[in-house]
Amino acid sequence: MACTCVETVNEKLKERNTRLTQAIVFSPRKDDCLMLVTEQIETGRGKPKAVAMFLTYCPFCGVAYDG
Ligand SMILES: [Zn+2]
Repeated sequence: MACTCVETVNEKLKERNTRLTQAIVFSPRKDDCLMLVTEQIETGRGKPKAVAMFLTYCPFCGVAYDG
């Protein structure tokens, strides 16, 4: 990651048994991606599944992630 915000926030969340969701992506990217958790609005047969959102900028300081 281009900054250490994720590590800093995870350290603060640790005392509450919580951490940010990160996903390992099998691509030429060097680092893990921070993933925004999403959910499906309507469920049922034929409804499209929810998509995952991977952040390209740090949500805490605004620095662009590599790639
Ligand atoms: Zn940051």
